[in-house]
Amino acid sequence: MKRSRAHSITRDKKTEILDRLPSVREIYWFRKKLQNWYNPNHRSFLWRESTDAYVICVAEIFLQQTTASKVVDIIEQFTKKFSSWDAIAAASIEEIETTIHPLGLFRRRAQTLHKLANALAKRRGLPRTRRGLESLPGIGQYIANVLLVVLQHKREPFLDVNMSRVLERFFGPREMADIRDDPYLQVLARKVVNVKDTLSANWAILDFAALVCTKRRPRCTNCPLLERCQEGRRDKAVVSHDSEAELLTKLDFNRVFLSTNN
Ligand code: SF4
Repeated sequence: MKRSRAHSITRDKKTEILDRLPSVREIYWFRKKLQNWYNPNHRSFLWRESTDAYVICVAEIFLQQTTASKVVDIIEQFTKKFSSWDAIAAASIEEIETTIHPLGLFRRRAQTLHKLANALAKRRGLPRTRRGLESLPGIGQYIANVLLVVLQHKREPFLDVNMSRVLERFFGPREMADIRDDPYLQVLARKVVNVKDTLSANWAILDFAALVCTKRRPRCTNCPLLERCQEGRRDKAVVSHDSEAELLTKLDFNRVFLSTNN
C-alpha cells in the first residue's frame, strides 16, 4: 500500500511562490524556441511510437535512473519475451531479472514489474484516473502523467529531474526539495505544456534536457534559449567577467614588460 506524502505548505507561502511564475509571454517565447529546436532535433524511440499502455509502462519503468540508449537495447527483446502483463505475472522474478540485467537496478525493476503485473491481473485494464493510476505499484506521478497524456490526451507535464533542470535553469529555481510537492514547478510545468500537442511539448523539453541542457556541462554557448535563460546569462556574465579580468592581467603584464624593456 502506498503512503500519501505530506504537503506541509501554508496558503500564504503557496501564494508567494505562485507570484513568482513567469508571464504568459515568457512562457510562449520559451515554448516556441524549444519547439523550433525540437522539430529537426527530436529523438525517436519505440515507446514513443506506441499507444500500447503495456509498452509505455514497461519503458517508463526501465527509463527510471538510466539512459534511453540502454533501454533501446532491452525493450524490444523484453516485450517479445513477455508480451503482456499476464506473461510477466506468470514468470518468475528471476526470469525477469535475467532479461533486464544489463539495465542495472534489475532486482528492483523486476519486483516492480511483477507487483504491477499481479495488481493488473486482478482488474480489467489500467484505471483511468490519476488517483487510480498512482495507487498501482511502480506508478508515480510521472508515469501516471505519461499515461494520461498518451492514452487520454490530457495536458499534463512529464515533470522529472530532467524537465525540472531545464525549467529551473531558465525560469528560476524551485523552493521545495521534492519536485512533486513544489507548487511553483508543478504549475509552471503544467503551463509550459498546456498546448494542443502536449506530447511534443513534453518530449521537446526532455530531448532538450538530454542533448543541450545536460546535467553536467550544458551547451549554453549554442543554446537557442540563452538570450533569456537565467542560468545561462549568469554563467555568461561570469565568463565575460573572467575574460575581462584575464585581459586586464595581460595588459598589466604588457605594461610592466614593455616599461622594463624600453
Ligand atoms: S542557456 Fe544553458 S542553462 Fe540555459 S537552457 Fe540553455 S543550455 Fe540550459
